[in-house]
Amino acid sequence: MSKLQAPLVECFSSIQGEGVLVGLRQVFLRFAGCNLNCSFCDTPGMSAVPQECLLELTPGRRDFQQLPNPVTLERVATLLESWGAAWPGIHHSISITGGEPLLYGALLDEWLPELRKLLPIYLETNGTLPEALAPLIPHLDSIGMDIKLPSASGCPELWDQHHAFLELAAMKEVFVKIVVDQSTEEWEIRRSCAMIGAVDPAIPLILQPLTREDGTIGITAQRALELQELCTSLKEVRVIPQTHKFMGQL
Ligand code: SF4
Repeated sequence: MSKLQAPLVECFSSIQGEGVLVGLRQVFLRFAGCNLNCSFCDTPGMSAVPQECLLELTPGRRDFQQLPNPVTLERVATLLESWGAAWPGIHHSISITGGEPLLYGALLDEWLPELRKLLPIYLETNGTLPEALAPLIPHLDSIGMDIKLPSASGCPELWDQHHAFLELAAMKEVFVKIVVDQSTEEWEIRRSCAMIGAVDPAIPLILQPLTREDGTIGITAQRALELQELCTSLKEVRVIPQTHKFMGQL
C-alpha cells in the first residue's frame, strides 16, 4: 500500500450537492490547498494544511475524529472498508475534492487504484492542471471540472488551461460546471460554450448560481435563464444551485 500521506481537511459521507451527480450519496475526501483564490470560495483556509483532519466514524452522522495530518492511505481505506461492510451499497462513489486535489498528482497516482477497489472514483476539480490530470485518467470513472469566469470568480483568464484540461477529461465521463452571478458577462458564457462544443457538444454544462456566504443567491432567476438561453449550441445545459446548502449538509 502507498506510503505517501495526504494533507486532508476531512473525510465524510454526504449527498453530492452540485453537478450531474446531484443527490447521490458519496464519500468525500477533501484535500487541503488550492492553486486558485476564487472570490466565492466556500472552503476558506484552503491555502493552508490544517494540523488535523476530520474523519467521520459513522457515515453521515458527523461523529468526527480528529486525526493528525498527513493521513495514511491505510487509515482511509480501512475506514471505507468498514463502511462498505456495515452499510453495503449506500455510497455511489468517492468524490476526490478540495481545494484542488490535482496538486497531489503523485499521491493520487498511488491512492486512486486502491480506493477504486472499494468504490468508483469521481474527481471534482477546478480544471486548470492538465499536466497533473493526464497520468490519472486510467484511475478515474468520472470528472466534474470548472470553468472559472473572471467576472464571478475574480480569477485571471484561464481559457487555455481549461481547454487543454477538457480535451483530456473528455476521455472519461465529464461535465463542466460554471458558477454564475449577476456580474457574469454574455461573452464569457458564449466563449465557454464554444470551447466545450469544440471538444464535444454532448458534454453536459451546469450553470451554478452563486450561493453567497449568507446563503442568498447571487443571480436573479431571470438572469440565470437568460444565460442558459445563450447555450443552445450544447445539448445539455442545466441550471442547478448548490442543493446541499439548502439542507444544511456539508
Ligand atoms: S478552485 Fe475551489 S477551492 Fe480553489 S479557491 Fe476556487 S472555489 Fe476555492
